[in-house]
Amino acid sequence: MRDHHARRIRRDRAVHAAVAQGLLDPYRTPVAAFVDVEGIARTAAELLAAWPRGTEVLHAFAAKANPMVPVLALLLRHGLGCEVSSPGELAQARAAGFPAARIVLDSPAKTQAELAEALRDGIALNIDNFEELERVDRLVADGTAAVRVGVRINPQVGLGSIEAMSTAGRTTKFGIAMADPGNRERLLAAYAARPWLRWVHVHVGSQGIPLELNAAGVAEAVRFAQEVNARRAGQIEGIDIGGGLPVDFSKDEDSPTFADHVAVLRQAAPELFGGELKVVTEYGRSVMAKNGFIASRVEYTKTTGGRAIALAHAGAQVAARSVFAPRSWPLRVLAYDRHGLPSTAELEVQDVAGPCCFAGDLVARERKLPKLATEDIVVVPDTGAYYFSSPFQYNSLPMPPVYGFEVSEGDVVRFHVLRAAESIEEVVARSGVLPAGLR
Ligand SMILES: *Cc1c(COP(=O)(O)O)cnc(C)c1O
Repeated sequence: MRDHHARRIRRDRAVHAAVAQGLLDPYRTPVAAFVDVEGIARTAAELLAAWPRGTEVLHAFAAKANPMVPVLALLLRHGLGCEVSSPGELAQARAAGFPAARIVLDSPAKTQAELAEALRDGIALNIDNFEELERVDRLVADGTAAVRVGVRINPQVGLGSIEAMSTAGRTTKFGIAMADPGNRERLLAAYAARPWLRWVHVHVGSQGIPLELNAAGVAEAVRFAQEVNARRAGQIEGIDIGGGLPVDFSKDEDSPTFADHVAVLRQAAPELFGGELKVVTEYGRSVMAKNGFIASRVEYTKTTGGRAIALAHAGAQVAARSVFAPRSWPLRVLAYDRHGLPSTAELEVQDVAGPCCFAGDLVARERKLPKLATEDIVVVPDTGAYYFSSPFQYNSLPMPPVYGFEVSEGDVVRFHVLRAAESIEEVVARSGVLPAGLR
């Protein structure tokens, strides 16, 4: 299914076709999410092409950004690995078909069972702290082989613009703090005593981290690896550089690109490209954000205190982050008419509200948009990562359906159900049962 449409054109075709094919039925399914199947292939190809051939690299997609099994399966098909941080994500990665050799397990709170399973199966593991290291010691002492095991360092290079997304501050909860008194020596001694510790992991943070800060963290990991190798040549097999390439939510084009990231890393940490170290990356948001969108019918419109408000079905249940922290996570909202064509109505300042019963459930505040009317469609682009794939169960709103789409020659759009709409019966089933003893 090849075509050369830009992302925006593919999205416009998909919205129009979704209406024509009854996927946004105002009576039954007023909200749905869409995944750009060709977009995923293109993004994966760009990622693979951005890294030089001389470097052995595994791009382990951070599953938390979009843990849907069919999405993970597409990424596997296009040559990626998978980074997981919980038993659920590990099971999703396995269900998508990832072999253990392409899976990396992080998480700051791995249980004994998770550690034992990962070591047993040869899944790469990044240890968060000295206590976890002692647990792994006990498993190794019991005879489990330790392959692809590393330690996450916190290079303490500083915070980005969103503190909750910054993982390399002075007191951040992740990893071993390299600038704290004694830690560097203690960790060097730990590597010296354990020849099986062969990786170094760093993840400076997610959205809001400048590329230079990210690269400074990676450079710190490389420096540490060189110190380990100075004591025992060749001990460090590779560096896991984490993810955190920011996404520009204000436009359709990717910026920065994977190639931009590689260019900054080449400056800050040239040894990463020398051919002696393997590399793992853990990009999440930058792989999927622009390959998904949410579309909702407008149910009603009204004016309150002089403010035009459109009440639609895309709110906190599919866009929790932007609803609760709108300044950190602004999203575009695009207006389409009831037939799914870009709206040509006059511009007006409006709020676009979701269906949840709290006043802050807005995906756009005082936004100048074509004047919305009942049955029009609002599209929230750039929501392929961390939005509809990690829904919020507030108000018992069901998970909307997710469709993959492909636009072929002649603009025929084919949809594939990636996740069926959650039924009301399923909502009831996940809400518990009064046990016989309490009846
Ligand atoms: C969340 C996370 C990632 C992915 O971050 P993005 O900003 O989505 O690229 C990678 N590695 C680790 C350890 C993470 O926690």
